[in-house]
Amino acid sequence: MLMKLVSIELIPQLKDNYSYIIKDNLSNDIIIIDPAESELILEKIKNKKLQLKAILLTHHHNDHTAGVSDILKFFNVPVYSPSKNILGTSFEVSDNDEIKTSFINFKVISTKGHTLDHIVFYNQDNGILFSGDTLFRLGCGRVFEGTFQDMHISLKKLEKIDNETLVFCGHEYTLNNLAFLKSTFPEFSVLDEEEKEIKNQLMETNSSIPFNLGKEKAINPFLSSKAIFYEKFKKTKNLNDYEMFSFIRKLKDNF
Ligand SMILES: [Zn+2]
Repeated sequence: MLMKLVSIELIPQLKDNYSYIIKDNLSNDIIIIDPAESELILEKIKNKKLQLKAILLTHHHNDHTAGVSDILKFFNVPVYSPSKNILGTSFEVSDNDEIKTSFINFKVISTKGHTLDHIVFYNQDNGILFSGDTLFRLGCGRVFEGTFQDMHISLKKLEKIDNETLVFCGHEYTLNNLAFLKSTFPEFSVLDEEEKEIKNQLMETNSSIPFNLGKEKAINPFLSSKAIFYEKFKKTKNLNDYEMFSFIRKLKDNF
């Protein structure tokens, strides 16, 4: 996928994970996000003569980090992660830090909830956000280590990011998320239109990623409940924003 200054390649990993290769449009420099497996990535680096400059990790889970040690056997590059405890980490980064590589910089945003250490990477110049397991298309990550309150606050931070942003998340969970929303909000017809678009995108690219953040704010009730339909739903159940988030997160946990 060609952005203004970089190209982004989705690398399917394991069952439904995504790792990403971000490549400079003017050179062969690349960085990698969340490698769960190393084989396919190493093969691409070799075949296309890519120059690996850094690895970025969103959180400590194995399905986002297990490929790191293998890659480091071949390339001595810095690994930016939220915790020194993650194998291979050379730089521990936290909220508001700036990661600078040879061709692209990222702002680090702390988004605890899914894990306590979770971070996401945002680049405003290209309008791209790597959201790991915090924000999914039509959903959000399960709350394993933090509290529902933590996750709600984290998603509110992402809601403030520019509408034009394209989001690249850690898993292909979209169809399951859509099925949940349709069963919970069966009268919200916007979801039917979204379903058509998602199915087209899946047919064309075999993936529902990336997705537009502005649109997501209007249809993903985990990210924002400001859409008129959700506002009405909240009113009938007498819920505030946080209670709405908890209500649907609990429903989704049992879906
Ligand atoms: Zn995870």
